[in-house]
Amino acid sequence: MRPFDYARADTTSDAATRAAAGATFLAGGTNLLDLMKLEVMAPEALVDVTRLDLHEVEATDESGLRIGALVTNSDLANHATVRAHYPVLSRALLSGATVQLRNKATTGGNLLQRTRCPYFYDTAAACNKRDPGTGCAAMEGRNRILAVLGASDHCIATHPSDMAVAMRALGARVVTEGPDGGRELDLGDLYRLPGDTPNIETVLSDGELITAVILPPPPAGAQSYVKVRDRASYAFALVSVAGVVAVEDGRITSANLAFGGLAPMPWRNEAVETALIGKAPSTETFDAAADILLADAKGHGDNDFKIPLARRTLRRALRELCERAA
Ligand SMILES: Cc1cc2nc3c(=O)[nH]c(=O)nc-3n(C[C@H](O)[C@H](O)[C@H](O)COP(=O)(O)OP(=O)(O)OC[C@H]3O[C@@H](n4cnc5c(N)ncnc54)[C@H](O)[C@@H]3O)c2cc1C
Ligand code: SF4
Repeated sequence: MRPFDYARADTTSDAATRAAAGATFLAGGTNLLDLMKLEVMAPEALVDVTRLDLHEVEATDESGLRIGALVTNSDLANHATVRAHYPVLSRALLSGATVQLRNKATTGGNLLQRTRCPYFYDTAAACNKRDPGTGCAAMEGRNRILAVLGASDHCIATHPSDMAVAMRALGARVVTEGPDGGRELDLGDLYRLPGDTPNIETVLSDGELITAVILPPPPAGAQSYVKVRDRASYAFALVSVAGVVAVEDGRITSANLAFGGLAPMPWRNEAVETALIGKAPSTETFDAAADILLADAKGHGDNDFKIPLARRTLRRALRELCERAA
């Protein structure tokens, strides 16, 4: 690890100012410190944000929830309101990492954790995300865990978060504060697809700190998070489905779905949801939705299996959700 400066921020504006001047935010450190040890990231300065007053989960005036960016993954998963009214989020969080990691990992850090592409972590390998213009070793290499949707010829990395997938299905918004003031944006608008600049992963500007995530009121219907992975614990998703589905009189009346393990960001395609509305739950209905989801899917050899796996996982998630919602 290379030498670096360290400062602890007292206020969000102090943190934002230091980051705008070149420092990198340090939250739980469970991803950033690994990347620094491997010299994948080599910040000259860190600004520790963990003492900022962003540790609360509060009800909003709109009957939703405001989750401070420093709420740990453990505290959020076990929060009484989250368990009772947003179980898809609780389950997604509990399916990720380990208890020790979840005790340190924060809401903001989880959203901005970096990809698990093996070549990104190997400084001897070509990687456009780590080192723009060097190529992409994954394209012809070990790409089992990488993307089949939303990728580009320059990068096929996936976003590894489980929490973000559930939040995307719930319609979460992200609140930020930067040197030029604050803003609120849809979680889906936080991330950028790789295109020819996979090194630029979000729309955040220099010094822009995530301060909170806002959830709308709990949606009607059954909720679930289905995660398919190589091991039963301590493994990232190959495919995951976060879903909230309502059924009335034998017809699907609403469906919110987001997907992990398939794309460079937590993936949501509203056409998939629209295709389900008004339909009776059946294998044909679920397969028609999967056809829309996977219409543009493209494998790269090792990860070809994800396309049929995504279909089966969506079918399973929808069947379970519709049975519980009926
Ligand atoms: C062995 C292992 C297994 C794991 N398994 C899973 C899994 O199955 N599923 C899963 O979802 N995750 C998994 N994780 C990832 C883990 O969830 C993340 O490392 C963690 O959520 C990151 O949060 P953090 O607070 O530690 O972030 P940090 O490591 O502190 O920061 C991560 C990045 O976010 C930036 N950042 C942090 N907070 C903010 C903020 N408020 N505003 C702006 N930028 C910010 C940092 O500058 C850094 O670039 C695993 C991690 C490990 C090490
Ligand atoms: S897929 Fe992306 S992160 Fe992985 S080697 Fe290629 S450019 Fe790098």
